[in-house]
Amino acid sequence: MIESEHLYIHVPFCVKKCRYCDFYSKTDVSLIPDYVAALAREIRLRSQLNVSPPKGNAATVYFGGGTPSLLGPRHIETILKALDNAFSLCRETEITFEANPGTLDEIQLTSFQHLGINRVSLGVQSFDPVYLSLLGRIHSADSAVQAAEKVRAAGIDNISLDLIYGLPGQTVEHLTGELGAALNLNPAHLSCYMLTLEPGTALHAMHEQNRFMPMAQTDQVDLFRAAAKYLKACGWDHYEVSNFAKHTSLRSVHNRAYWQMVPYHGFGPAAHSYALKSVADGAAVYKRFWNAPDLEGYINALKSGRLPASGHEILTLEQRRMEYVMVGLRTSMGLDIRTGQHLWQDRFLTVFQPLMDDLENNGLARCQDAGQRFVLTLDGWMRLDSIVSSFVQLI
Ligand code: SF4
Repeated sequence: MIESEHLYIHVPFCVKKCRYCDFYSKTDVSLIPDYVAALAREIRLRSQLNVSPPKGNAATVYFGGGTPSLLGPRHIETILKALDNAFSLCRETEITFEANPGTLDEIQLTSFQHLGINRVSLGVQSFDPVYLSLLGRIHSADSAVQAAEKVRAAGIDNISLDLIYGLPGQTVEHLTGELGAALNLNPAHLSCYMLTLEPGTALHAMHEQNRFMPMAQTDQVDLFRAAAKYLKACGWDHYEVSNFAKHTSLRSVHNRAYWQMVPYHGFGPAAHSYALKSVADGAAVYKRFWNAPDLEGYINALKSGRLPASGHEILTLEQRRMEYVMVGLRTSMGLDIRTGQHLWQDRFLTVFQPLMDDLENNGLARCQDAGQRFVLTLDGWMRLDSIVSSFVQLI
């Protein structure tokens, strides 16, 4: 079997920090040229030092962040060349680029398309000016619509839109209006995320000062159900709790690698990687490693020819089992019983069958593919956290 690679590039720059976001990014864009040079060095060094040994063509490249659309065509060209030298990109490689609608122009997009970008993920978040302002976004609803049109005009049809819901006072009617506005842009994919309060964010601080009240959980669940039903009625494929594709062939290949616990390489400050470390006594040992969230330290280390500061952990069997359950239950592929049996040394069904029967009897899950897959229903996804906890207690 030809192995293929999944590559993630963290672009740690934003024009302004959104109020809800805890991703690592800086607003000093003057460091972009140094960052791009350091990134190209990191990619080269890691493949030379065998930290990220290439095993085949790259299946996916994902530019995330941060705001990758702050990079210019020359930056993208440098990065893609470095990736191609180390991992071999090909025509089929899914190359996704996250973009903020407030930072896009058509000439830049056309250059990106020529360089090989074939999928754009637009951070629309809302079409409502009040919510855009609350979230601290730098763009208007109109500029999000124009951004989608510019992406398409540049020849990139594979467009994903990000929306946030569960905003204070949001009703089912409001949310379906947002989804309708998104579908009017004819995207291939939608990511609909429930607003969460992350420590360290401005919204979290506002909450502590009683200036922001998150939506009650029961209302959030109502919105989740409404969004799922609305998109299903429109024929969309709900293939992960927060992700929908217009057709199964338009699911995100890159994100699927995360959900299926397939190894991936992450480059850039704060980027994580997941890799097979060794095979001991016939059992695979996996590790996770990451670069420190420190842009200046990252640039300085690579300027002097060293890899940047990083951390790592070897995943215990217990951790891998937990992650398998946590990510598997989030997807419409569910838990693959054969993989479970392998991970649990043939004891998966012994351990979990009573819980699985109970969930199935209560309409929260079903078995598919002649009993080979255990998949949560929509009602099950609405209780995802407590179901995952029930599994984890048995690990
Ligand atoms: S949501 Fe996107 S644009 Fe806003 S701060 Fe986070 S990474 Fe930057």
